[in-house]
Amino acid sequence: MENLFGDTPVEDPVESGPTVRMATPRQEEYISKLLAKKEWEHLPKRIHALASVEVHTFDEAREMIAALKSCNWKDTDPPEGIHFLNGAVFKVQVAHQGSGRKYAKRLFVGEDPEETHWDYIGRTGEFELLSESTLMSLEEAKKFGQLYGVCCACGAVLTDEVSIEKGIGPICERKGF
Ligand SMILES: [Zn+2]
Repeated sequence: MENLFGDTPVEDPVESGPTVRMATPRQEEYISKLLAKKEWEHLPKRIHALASVEVHTFDEAREMIAALKSCNWKDTDPPEGIHFLNGAVFKVQVAHQGSGRKYAKRLFVGEDPEETHWDYIGRTGEFELLSESTLMSLEEAKKFGQLYGVCCACGAVLTDEVSIEKGIGPICERKGF
């Protein structure tokens, strides 16, 4: 059969049997990017095996990308919990919707207790400075609570006399802070 230009399309004479579609350069590039962001030990054995092969088929690449996207991120993030840095209280938590990654919010304590709220910080700024060593102990949280009349763990204004004295709300205290 001839095409519009009168050329006869040439069949690849070497190719025999079903052709295997190979991974695209973009897939391979994406795989390397994902691998760099993942904790190697947390990856399934199948991915270990596939990662040791230099050239992947299109289907293998697709499988790897799907598996990599569904497993843990490298955990260089600060631990979850209540942190204290530069005179402010921060809460690090995991986003349960969307990325599933950690983010931070900062407790704003207003002069008027009603103004107290959390400001979203995300994963930049102070988030990068938080670590194991900025985690607040229960004692520190209570001191902060006694001083400002705010429960560090949830940001609620302490109204109950017992809670004000303790520096922490009853629910957060029960949850073990
Ligand atoms: Zn609380």
